[in-house]
Order: sequence, then structure tokens, then C-alpha cells
Amino acid sequence: MYSEPDRAAFLPLTQLASLVARLMALGYQCLGPAVENGAIVMRQLDTPDGLPRGLQAEQGPGRYRLTQDSHQRYFAWASGPQAIKPQAFASRESLWRVERDDAGSLKFAAVLPAAPAQAIIGVRACDLAALALQDAHFLRAGRRDPHYARRREQLFLVAVQCAEPAATCFCASTGDGPTPSAGYDIALAELANGFVAVAGSAKGDAVLTGLDLSPATPQQIDAARQQGKDSATAQTRSLPGRNLRDVLMQRLEHPRWDAVGTRCLACGNCTAVCPTCFCHAEADEPALDGRSSEHARLWDSCFGEAHGHLHGFSVRPDIRSRYRQWLTHKLATWHDQFGRSGCVGCGRCIAWCPVGIDLTEEAAALTAGEGPR
Ligand code: SF4
Ligand code: SF4
Repeated sequence: MYSEPDRAAFLPLTQLASLVARLMALGYQCLGPAVENGAIVMRQLDTPDGLPRGLQAEQGPGRYRLTQDSHQRYFAWASGPQAIKPQAFASRESLWRVERDDAGSLKFAAVLPAAPAQAIIGVRACDLAALALQDAHFLRAGRRDPHYARRREQLFLVAVQCAEPAATCFCASTGDGPTPSAGYDIALAELANGFVAVAGSAKGDAVLTGLDLSPATPQQIDAARQQGKDSATAQTRSLPGRNLRDVLMQRLEHPRWDAVGTRCLACGNCTAVCPTCFCHAEADEPALDGRSSEHARLWDSCFGEAHGHLHGFSVRPDIRSRYRQWLTHKLATWHDQFGRSGCVGCGRCIAWCPVGIDLTEEAAALTAGEGPR
């Protein structure tokens, strides 16, 4: 974020609303943090000064509680349950529709989403890394998903450095945070009296230029850099290595899979909150009059019995094998597909697991005895 310090600007706290106002004036629907059912989620901002202050999120295995930030910062909260996955990969959408005309002929038509231009304010480094993985899946050469692409093209991302990691965060160990390094239009680092702001795209540069900001001083840039280092050091969880592929695939019969299989409820929460999970199911939804039908895509989870159902039998009949499928895909075979692990260290699967299963703890137990990787 600070590779070109001479391009960093300083956005005073009092001018944060003017950044939102500028984005609104450019036609963006602005999304920012909002409290819903006791958790921070991304919701549409009605006014430029609608961003909440003073929220923090205390997290642990199976635990998430909002608390007050005594410094009244805008972005002192670590990751909420939602990431920005739903803004590009909708949790439910129609892919195509078929209608029967009076002569009985069927007419098929693609259903493409109406995707408004959206600016998301408060995106974290782990979410950007996860979005890059979703891009690698949905926009891969020859298999470009038009529904995902249409939404993705419309996103303007205002990222924020995480200064207050939750106890569940471990993005420093995966190399994905806490300071945003790529994939943003604008990145902010919140200091006591304002934000060090850096553009990461031509669109972001045009927005910052329009705000007529002063350059950030070397002291402000150093403070933001140091804040990122302190935040990384403050993280208490980590994975045993960035590439666990071989060791995990050699331990498919490790007794730890039985132990975790007895604890796991197969509820699928971890896959719903994970910003990199992209499994889905498809379903046909016929109208009652029999004249039309929609073909829908819905988020699905590899923890569901039906997800592993193949022509009359299930390839993963027990919870042990479903947990193993999830973890070995995420931390092992993802390397074969995408050249890196599928975990960006956001910690959501730990906080939102109702029985507090901790992926870092499971990975450490499963790889124990191996040297550093
Ligand atoms: S596996 Fe867990 S920690 Fe890793 S990206 Fe998914 S939700 Fe975040
Ligand atoms: S690991 Fe936790 S969140 Fe995931 S399916 Fe099992 S019980 Fe649910």
C-alpha cells in the first residue's frame, strides 16, 4: 500500500463523508458497515455521513460480540460474518428461464442480473485476497461466469488496513494482510485524526484527485506502516505453513479426522461465512401453471449430505469425510487448482462455528511432527 509514498494523500476524519459523497455523486450505490442482528454486515449507506464509529468485534472460537471502541474509530472492527462474497457471487440467483408458448414450444433465455455500480467501504485485505481467488474461479479462461462477471465489473473497493485484529485473525500467517497490498481502488489506513489514502487503480486515482487532498507526510506514512506491522504482530493464531498440501494428503487416515468428525455438526456455517468457498447447487423452480420455469443457482456446502450424492449413493456419507473434504480442499488441493491455499486467514470459520472448531488448531494437529513449510 505504501510502495509509492509520494502518491499517498491524507484524508482528514472530517472529510471521510466527502469521499462517500463523491462516490455517490459518481453514481455508486455505497455500502458500508452496519449493525444487524448483533453483527457487522455491509449495507447500503443512505447518506455520506452514515458510517458508524466506535464499533469493535470481539471474537473467539464460536464467539462474536460487538463492543465499543474507546477511540471512536470508524474501522476498529475486524471481519464481520459476511465478507464481500455476496456482492459478486450472489447467494441465490436465476441463471436462465424457460417459457412454453401457446403452440407448446419452449423458449429458453438467459437471465442476467441487474448489477448496480457499488462502492464498498471498509473492505479488508483478507477479503481482497479472497476476491482474487473467486475471480480465479469464476473468471477463468474459457469458463467466464457472466453473472459473477457482471457484478464484479461494477465494484469499486475502498479497502481499510486492519489495525485491531480479532483473536481469530491469522492473515499475517497466510500472507494476505493486515495491510491491503493489491486489488483495491482506494486503500485507507486510519490514524487518530484521519486516513492515509492510496489509489490502487485509475478509477481510485480519479476519485482521490477530485477530493483535492494534501499529500500524506512522511510521519503519517510511517505511522500507518508501523500500525500494519503492529497489527500483524498482535495476531495470535497462525497456520503451520503456507503449503500444507503434501502433508495433509499423506494423512488422510489420521485419527484427528475421527475426533473432529465427532464434534462437527455439519451445519455448513464455516462454508457460508468463508469468503473463498464457491460451491453451489442448482435447482429448477417451475411456476404452478406449468408455463414457465427458472433455473436457479444457490450457495451450497460440502458439509451437506446432498452435496456428495452421486447417482444413488453418497461419496461422503459421514461427517468425518465431509470435514476432511473441506479442510483438504481448502488447505491442500486448492494448491493444484489455484497455485495457493484457499485460506486467507480471516478467521470467520472459527468465530461462526457453533461448536468452536478452530481450523488452525486442526491443521496444527494434523501436520504435527512436520518441519516448517
Ligand atoms: S477457511 Fe476460515 S479462515 Fe480461511 S478464509 Fe475460509 S473462513 Fe477465513
Ligand atoms: S466445522 Fe463447525 S461450522 Fe463447519 S460444519 Fe462443522 S460445526 Fe458447522
